[in-house]
Amino acid sequence: EGENQFFSVRDIHAYYGESYIVQGISFDLKKGEVLSLLGRNGAGKTTTLRTLARLDNPQLRSGEIWLDGEPLHERKAHQAAQSGIQLVPEDRRIIGGLTVEENLVLAQVSGEVGWDLDEVYSHFPRLAERRKQEATTMSGGEQQMLAVARALARDIKVLFLDEPYEGLAPVIVQEIEGIVRQIRDIGITTIIVEQNAVAALRLSDRAVIMDTGEIVYEGSAQEVLDNEQLRHDYLAI
Ligand code: ATP
Repeated sequence: EGENQFFSVRDIHAYYGESYIVQGISFDLKKGEVLSLLGRNGAGKTTTLRTLARLDNPQLRSGEIWLDGEPLHERKAHQAAQSGIQLVPEDRRIIGGLTVEENLVLAQVSGEVGWDLDEVYSHFPRLAERRKQEATTMSGGEQQMLAVARALARDIKVLFLDEPYEGLAPVIVQEIEGIVRQIRDIGITTIIVEQNAVAALRLSDRAVIMDTGEIVYEGSAQEVLDNEQLRHDYLAI
C-alpha cells in the first residue's frame, strides 16, 4: 500500500432496496487530498458518500473500501466513524435548543476526541463569537461552519461534505473554502459533493464526475475547469 492508497475505493456497488444506484465506483486518494465529486442531479453522488460512510442505507453489495489499511467494507457506520470518517450531510443536522458550544461538546463526548474547543474556536472565530447562541438561530453559513467544526471535534481522517455551499452567499463560501484549506493542511482527506462546481474545483486537487452511478471522467481539478465539453455535458457551467 503506497501513500496513493490512503483512502481507496475499489469497484463498489450499492443499492437502495432493489434500485441499483452505485454501479462500480473506484478511486484512490492520498492523505490530505481534496476531491470534488461532481455530476448532474441524481447521478448518485450522495448515495456514494453514504455508501462510503457505511450508513445502513444504501446497501453495499460488493467492492472494497480501505482507509489507512482498515477494511471499511467490513464495518458498520459507527465503526467507520471510529475509524475516522465523518459525513456532513446536506441538512447539517444541527441540534435545536442547544447552543453552539453544546453542539460541539456533544460531538466530542460521542466520539474520539479531535480538536478541543480552543482549537475549534481558533479555526472558526465566528463560532467563538457565538458560542452561547442557540445554534439554529445562526445564519446558514454559520450553521454550515458549525457542522464542519463538529466533525473536526472528533478524531477524523476523512471528511465528506455534501452540498456545503447550498444557499450560501459567495463571501461565506470563500470563508468555508478557507477552512477546508486549513483542514487539508493538517492532512485530512476531503471529498466535496457540490452543485457549485467552480467553487468546489478551485479548492480541489482532483475531480471525479459521475453519471448514472458510474464514473465518466477522472482527472485533475484544473483539467475539468479547462474542459469545455465536460463542463457543458455534466456540470452546466
Ligand atoms: P442530487 O444532486 O440531486 O442530490 P445525487 O447525485 O446526489 O443527486 P443521489 O441523491 O445519490 O444523487 O441519487 C441517486 C439515485 O438514487 C436517484 O435516482 C435517487 O432517486 C435514488 N435514491 C436516492 N435516495 C434514495 C432512497 N432513499 N431510496 C431509493 N432511491 C433513492
